[in-house]
Amino acid sequence: MKRGLDGTEPKEDELSEGREKDRGADQAPENDQLYAIKPIHEKGQGWVATSKISKGTCILAETPVFKVPRFAPPQNNFMLPSITSMSIIIKELKNLEKDQQRAFFAQHNAHGSRHSPFLGIAKTNVLPLGPKAPEGGLFLEASRINHACNPNSQNTWNDNLDKLTIHSIKDIEESEEITISYLDGSESYKVRQQSLKTSFGFDCTCELCSLPPTLRRESDRRLDEITRLDELIGDGVRIILTPLACVRDAYTLLQLLKEERIDDARIARLYSCLQNRLPLVARREIFPAPLLAVALPN
Ligand SMILES: [Zn+2]
Repeated sequence: MKRGLDGTEPKEDELSEGREKDRGADQAPENDQLYAIKPIHEKGQGWVATSKISKGTCILAETPVFKVPRFAPPQNNFMLPSITSMSIIIKELKNLEKDQQRAFFAQHNAHGSRHSPFLGIAKTNVLPLGPKAPEGGLFLEASRINHACNPNSQNTWNDNLDKLTIHSIKDIEESEEITISYLDGSESYKVRQQSLKTSFGFDCTCELCSLPPTLRRESDRRLDEITRLDELIGDGVRIILTPLACVRDAYTLLQLLKEERIDDARIARLYSCLQNRLPLVARREIFPAPLLAVALPN
């Protein structure tokens, strides 16, 4: 039986009630697990699809076994002052069931002897509870998903469910590995390799990182432009003052994301940003770009 975050054991009828209440669009079916944890070549273990998974499917919705403060990481690293974090992690571990404690210590520690095993495992496996969130969560299932720089799934913290959800962002074939990105944004090859080595202790050999040098340089150029445009479009003042330029940038960004086969939350954010912020006059007068036909149907 899983304990609550306060360490108390919920009653069986409360669990049944909770299961029914939790079911929703973001809830993965409980008895229809879409993945299995299996050995992956040169990666240890990872998630493998047990059947074909359509794009947009909720593969898992998982409650963290515990939460810990997350000190505004400059990039992707989980950083906590050692003494504070150690005491929090030890306290939380004591509240876990024995099998959960075993599962915690079975997780990968990318930091070797630089930290205690408690901290090393937490720093390697804790996932942020939302962008720039002050907290991270330790997930026994989701932490087993391997990284890819152009993944087929996305992890998102859902405040309403108080769970981390894993959704497919591409169609995934049976027996294909399910991956998420451990990184924020779209860094170029060298930056990605450095971040992954520093934070997680591995050299990435994913499909994107294995491109021949010429194709990799082209990819890096697109990724740099994606990052630049993504930041520009998030500028609320600019979209009011120069809506036409923003729409053109948005269209360029969509094309670049498509060329890089990126289909993650940035696309939804792009549509949402235009829908909410673009002045009404601009919506009516701007050329009928394909973007507007979808993003601004009214
Ligand atoms: Zn990679």
